[in-house]
Amino acid sequence: MGLNNSHIMPTYNRADLRFVRGDGAWLETDTGEKYLDFGSGIAVNTLGHAHPKLTAALTAQSEKLWHVSNLYEIPEQEKLATQLCDASFADLVFFNNSGAEAAEVMIKAMRKFHAVNGAPEKVTLIGFDGAFHGRTLAALAAAGNQAYLDGFGPAPQGFVQCAELSLAAVEKLIDDTTAGILIEPVQGEGGVRDVGTEFLRGLRSLCDKHGILLGLDEVQCGIGRTGKLFAHEWADITPDIMAIAKGIGGGFPLGAVLARQAVGAVMQPGSHGSTYGGNPLGCAVGSAVLDAVLADGFLAHVDQMAIYFRQDLARLLDDYGDIFEDLRGRGLMVGLKCKPQNQQLVAALRDEKFLSVGAGDNVLRLLPPLNVTQGEIDLAISALEAACEKLRAQNGGGK
Ligand SMILES: *Cc1c(COP(=O)(O)O)cnc(C)c1O
Repeated sequence: MGLNNSHIMPTYNRADLRFVRGDGAWLETDTGEKYLDFGSGIAVNTLGHAHPKLTAALTAQSEKLWHVSNLYEIPEQEKLATQLCDASFADLVFFNNSGAEAAEVMIKAMRKFHAVNGAPEKVTLIGFDGAFHGRTLAALAAAGNQAYLDGFGPAPQGFVQCAELSLAAVEKLIDDTTAGILIEPVQGEGGVRDVGTEFLRGLRSLCDKHGILLGLDEVQCGIGRTGKLFAHEWADITPDIMAIAKGIGGGFPLGAVLARQAVGAVMQPGSHGSTYGGNPLGCAVGSAVLDAVLADGFLAHVDQMAIYFRQDLARLLDDYGDIFEDLRGRGLMVGLKCKPQNQQLVAALRDEKFLSVGAGDNVLRLLPPLNVTQGEIDLAISALEAACEKLRAQNGGGK
């Protein structure tokens, strides 16, 4: 189909590919070609495509009840909230439909907490350069990426960004108006940058010292992606509040904010809402995803696959030093900093029938489904080698 007569707003530069079905880590196009999918819809398809357990959960719920609104108690929502709280630091959960919405609620709750506790002047959120929290105006203001804000009028106030991952630099930004700190334990869109366990621990201490809140955006790095259910567990810290989305729905649009009691409890009736958020269909799927990720051996599998993949990738870096300069991320959230334009790599890999995703800072992102197999990782490495050889030949260079 010619894209020139598409009725879709041109917000995306789309590849000329139309997938019509999927199975595990594999996608099939309308012409029957198979692609190995290491993009997972950008860290969404936790269990790959068309996982039988998710299909069963969705189908069973769809035959009972899809949607009722939050004017009523929703048992499927209660169940998923209990599962999430049992498995995390959290006591209270608010459900919505996407990462940006979850970030937005996190921001609102962090401010409301201080307002309710007699410090309404504490409104400023400290974020970080290279962060991404989604595309609502507040989420964009929190990340402070000017390119995404240009043309959209006045940005919401009360956000500052720290230019470096330095505790001293963060502490300099803290003043009487600070409500809290907002950070992704592993930056996704910004270039798969792991901020490090020491840094997270330091932020926790700073928040405790200054009586401000630590809000984590685990929309991309959460739900098993790094080998723990949540990435902050590697640092042995707990946040006050956390946004999740992407992986929790396994492909069904689902987001959530998890908070400890005192923070979540400030969100009283009237303070926020969502028509679809936490509806039976989404929560039934979310429960099935979480059951699978928390099943015995699942996270150990993520760890093993990550170690296996990263060993091969380290060798790839040695062999193709003219193409890659750095291996980043944690677990199965993998970034390769590229020397040529990362989109050249994405395109060359697509020619090898292998799907990857670009990220900021000229990084190639590899986000396989978490139930990926060793055989599929071998195929991924072969595709990467083939793409590198072609790029090398094109660019007329050797090592
Ligand atoms: C993708 C992403 C978001 C935004 O999620 P949407 O579902 O696209 O709104 C927010 N934060 C992080 C860390 C993300 O990776």
